Amino acid sequence: MKFGGTSVGNAAAIQSTAAIVAARRDRTPVVVVSAMSGVTNALFSVANDAVDGRSTAALATVESLRTRHRDELATLAGSTNEMSDVLAEINALFDEVAALAHALAVLGHATPRAIDAIVSAGERLSVRLVVTAYQAAGLPAVAVDARHVLITTDEHNRATPLPDAIEAAGRTILAPLLAGGAIPVIAGFIGATVAGVTSTLGRGGSDYSASLIGAALRADAIEIWTDVDGMLTADPRVVSTARCIEQIRFDEASELASFGAKVLHPSTIAPAVRLGIPVYVLNSARPLGRGTRITTDAPRRAVTAIAGRRGTSVVKLRSSRMLLAHGFLRTIFDVFERHKTSVDVIATSEVEVSLTVDHDDRLDAVLVDLAGLADVSVERGLGIVAIVGAGLSDDTRTLAAALTALGEIHVHMLSLSATTINLTMIVDEDQVPAAMRRLHAAFFPEQS
Ligand code: ADP
Ligand code: ASP
Ligand code: MG
Repeated sequence: MKFGGTSVGNAAAIQSTAAIVAARRDRTPVVVVSAMSGVTNALFSVANDAVDGRSTAALATVESLRTRHRDELATLAGSTNEMSDVLAEINALFDEVAALAHALAVLGHATPRAIDAIVSAGERLSVRLVVTAYQAAGLPAVAVDARHVLITTDEHNRATPLPDAIEAAGRTILAPLLAGGAIPVIAGFIGATVAGVTSTLGRGGSDYSASLIGAALRADAIEIWTDVDGMLTADPRVVSTARCIEQIRFDEASELASFGAKVLHPSTIAPAVRLGIPVYVLNSARPLGRGTRITTDAPRRAVTAIAGRRGTSVVKLRSSRMLLAHGFLRTIFDVFERHKTSVDVIATSEVEVSLTVDHDDRLDAVLVDLAGLADVSVERGLGIVAIVGAGLSDDTRTLAAALTALGEIHVHMLSLSATTINLTMIVDEDQVPAAMRRLHAAFFPEQS
């Protein structure tokens, strides 16, 4: 059972999760928690402020986070002895963060490893609050250090988990606790390298932690508890009429997550699929709701949902020599591979290859290497809109309906393959919300 940032955002929310866990006690749950909402962002700003010489701002943020955690702890525990132990632990963690911020300010530079040391504090703090609340509610909760369980590579800031090591830790650390009747509570998002150095899985990574731990324990189910009723037909912040999807296939959920449905970290599905463990997305504010069930056998529909995201660039490569000469695409993809940059959508013609990448720091280096291979041009400021559905390619009328719905919104690039479950369209970044709303209105007309 994974509870996201808003689900543990304050004492009252944490207490509600205690009731949800209590209702599932006979199913021997393991609880995975995120940092309280906004805390990870604040910790990133502590690191940035420190590196840029704004030490006063960095320390002010640390102190306001300290106050927030202390206040919520007081609500959860009152002024018991236990509370003073936990308070001492929380204070020690904040002292550590302040010392790290000071070190970054002196250096004027932060390594990815130092960033992980700072931003991992959010989950380490919330675990303490959650365990306190559960114990106060009479649950046998035990804090487990994620760094002993979630073993990863040393690619700090987006480390790759090592499933065999995680499975071994599940057997030696978590299974005995469960067998003894305890409820392990463990931080999401963070882990440690084989050498024991704190690492993180990338933003939104707590969902991924939960599915890795669920897979390691061969759990019956992986539950992602969040602030919406489940996976919806679109991001409700963009499309107010979006509705909950009762059942969705693993591959559809995975595509939606990759194309912007932040409700799930894009890697969450993989460990569950490998073992056929169903994943549920549920609303911690409405625990009796049915949520969304993600499995292999959901109904096949032309369109299941719409997703969108900003921050895309299209790279266009032209070369009279290359085109479609064998080996050319491999040469191009070697460049992306070398820079660990993933390509989302690709379209080719006899004289041109267009591909999309996320804007990030690595794009410029990629472009320099590509320039030696072909004429390169880049279009920035774009976004991707994706229509996802297992039955999408059954009927070309779906494609026609999508393009009609977009009306005058300019489509820069489009991709649909014979077996695909998504239709992706590249549009101007500022048109992404409008494109999502139009597509949603076309495929999910409001029922009266
Ligand atoms: P948590 O802190 O619980 O991990 P997130 O903020 O990471 O929560 O994810 C939940 C949010 O994802 C929702 O509040 C919603 O705005 C957004 N979201 C985007 N696309 C979808 C979608 N298709 N279905 C549900 N939520 C979505
Ligand atoms: N707290 C982390 C983040 O905000 C991980 C998570 O919430 O999933 O990115
Ligand atoms: Mg999340």
